[in-house]
Amino acid sequence: MYRHTDNLNTPIELAVGKVVCAGRNYLDHIQEMKSDVPDEPLLFMKPASALCSMHDPIIIPADRGPCHNELEVALLIGQRLCHSDQYSALEAVHSVGLGLDLTLREVQAQLKEKGHPWERAKAFDGSCPVSQFIPAVQFTDLDQLVFSLEVNGEMRQEGNSGMMMHTMGQLLALISRHFTLEPGDIVMTGTPKGVGPLAQDDTIRARLQSSLDITTSVVAV
Ligand code: ZN
Repeated sequence: MYRHTDNLNTPIELAVGKVVCAGRNYLDHIQEMKSDVPDEPLLFMKPASALCSMHDPIIIPADRGPCHNELEVALLIGQRLCHSDQYSALEAVHSVGLGLDLTLREVQAQLKEKGHPWERAKAFDGSCPVSQFIPAVQFTDLDQLVFSLEVNGEMRQEGNSGMMMHTMGQLLALISRHFTLEPGDIVMTGTPKGVGPLAQDDTIRARLQSSLDITTSVVAV
């Protein structure tokens, strides 16, 4: 069963809760998807059952069309946030890691076309592999985080949280006006461009600054 862990692989004493995700938060990804630029990022959720460890092989559904990578900075929340301002919101970040917002792209396109909710495309079991979490105090600026994803040795996504359309503080404050964030919840902060299909036996390398460097493989089941 999934537990939050730190970079020594020690369990973090926070409950495992929901995952709140920001969509359309990086302009280059909005452009690659040919989506409209929203005033506010689009928000959606994944249940706790979507969480798994990115340090284990990534399991994708084999029979539901292409499953895309979306590598994102993941924030583990340490204090309750409800109608918070951006400054107290930032202080509530317990630790920082990486997450994959796995997305069944064709399923999502069909749901979008029908105006249906996206959960079948984005909230299925195992749709949110996350890394170990590094204490937030170890980062000088959460709005200048460099992260990247290589698939089979080729660079696929290169992000900098400075390219987000909202700062981390603004994003958390905005989320907290709609959904109370509880200790142990995770916020996925959106993906830069470079989404694409994953396949059986792909090797994935995900990096965050010099803090995380994870190599794992893909299994289609
Ligand atoms: Zn995403």
